[in-house]
Amino acid sequence: MLALCLVVSLAAPACDRLPVLSRTTPTPTATEMPAPTPAWQQPDTYRLAMLPAWADDVIAVSDPPFYYIRARLFLGASQPRLQVQQTTRYTNRSTQTLDRVYFRLFANKPSFGSELAFGSVTVAGQEAALDYQSERTAVGIILPTALRAGEAVDVEMLYNVTVPVENARGYGTYNYQDGILLLSNFYAMVAVHEADGWNLALAPDYGDPVYAETSFYSVEFTAPTDLKLVASGSGISRVENSDGTVTWKFVSGPMRDWMLVASERFESVSLALGHVRVNSYFLPQHRDAGVAMLAFARDSLRAYQESFGPYPFAEFDVVEAPVSGGMEYPGLILIDTRQYEAAGEYLEFITAHEVAHQWWYSLVGNDQVTVPWLDEGLTNFSTLYYYEYVYGSDRARLAFDNYVASRYVRLRESGQDAVVNQPVEAFSPEMYSAIVYGKAALFFQDVRAELGDTVFLDAMRAYLVDRKYQLSTPEDWLRVFEQVSGQELDELYTQWILEE
Ligand SMILES: [Zn+2]
Repeated sequence: MLALCLVVSLAAPACDRLPVLSRTTPTPTATEMPAPTPAWQQPDTYRLAMLPAWADDVIAVSDPPFYYIRARLFLGASQPRLQVQQTTRYTNRSTQTLDRVYFRLFANKPSFGSELAFGSVTVAGQEAALDYQSERTAVGIILPTALRAGEAVDVEMLYNVTVPVENARGYGTYNYQDGILLLSNFYAMVAVHEADGWNLALAPDYGDPVYAETSFYSVEFTAPTDLKLVASGSGISRVENSDGTVTWKFVSGPMRDWMLVASERFESVSLALGHVRVNSYFLPQHRDAGVAMLAFARDSLRAYQESFGPYPFAEFDVVEAPVSGGMEYPGLILIDTRQYEAAGEYLEFITAHEVAHQWWYSLVGNDQVTVPWLDEGLTNFSTLYYYEYVYGSDRARLAFDNYVASRYVRLRESGQDAVVNQPVEAFSPEMYSAIVYGKAALFFQDVRAELGDTVFLDAMRAYLVDRKYQLSTPEDWLRVFEQVSGQELDELYTQWILEE
């Protein structure tokens, strides 16, 4: 079960003031919005989701976005929907004055057939004008008073958002299917403000859409009693309501996204890896694979902790779901239910891949739309360390050849190649797979051969320390590796990443 062993008392949740569950979902009005619980803006609140040794990481990120999300799930209609009250504290960390703050609304992606519709958006009690961009997958909240460098603003939103049914787009991660509800990016997510403005780029359906700053999430989620909820971060309380619903409260660690999966059908097994609680959630008919997944997840976490540095969060969840392949979120990964059915060796590889994203994507972020190779290449390459840790170097080489290198080798044999350093949209789905997952991983393998194991791992650890909870660029990676190794890597970098 989800971390309810960690129940602690917090300030009284505001869930008892949420509107009563009904068959219809009227657009909420500002007067129904309860006053926010003050603790959600305090970093200390989020220590609850951290391992004791890393609890101080909550103050390592200066002025991150804070989210306080109260969501009520309505199942039973033709399309599930959520009624959401979201308060976001945004601090202007740029040197510019901002007249608006942009949020991503991925639920509005045209191919999904779902919609996020606002009831109201207010700033300091005043209704704000909205500026939709990127096919309504982004919205600018026009501020009544411009936000100067270092100043913070609370944006309050009331909205309804529908969840598509049997939606295979976007890897099927925003979807309700086979009794499993997948809520990838259902909420309004603060966009990244870069030196040249807001980044609102939208990946095609085959790329990872999320490019986000490390943030804190405090979520109260009200759902039917028999649903089992699995989420990023830690569940800290569960309150039964008089109307047959339950309100769960979750807090995240410093995380750049927040994911929730729910199903009545989930069974689970758990273990402790040091102080990390590792949970595997699966459908009843896949118990053997679900139990095996717990060991794969444990051994992957161990291998990467020994190689790269600690996993700082108190909980890690691996969840069976009707998705394509696997998908990573901070503290939670989804693995394709078809792989549980097949129960072959690829299930283990996918798990090792998605767990490695906890380092390269979750702890160290990057722009997954523009430089997808940085996290995908590093992640796919990192699976070598899992196989070396568990099975030794011979089997590791085989796995690397089969699952990582072969896609690119086949492409080369067919006379094709492409530059690695390109955005998702520059590739066809086939090329994306071979170049971003294959060729980029071979680059890291070549750097490892050049530097030797010891220096290479020193550089990987230094990279994690340098970029932990931050966004990274290829230049950051190159800078750290050249500093630590004392070697010029431009030539290898140019040959593998910049040239065809
Ligand atoms: Zn990946």
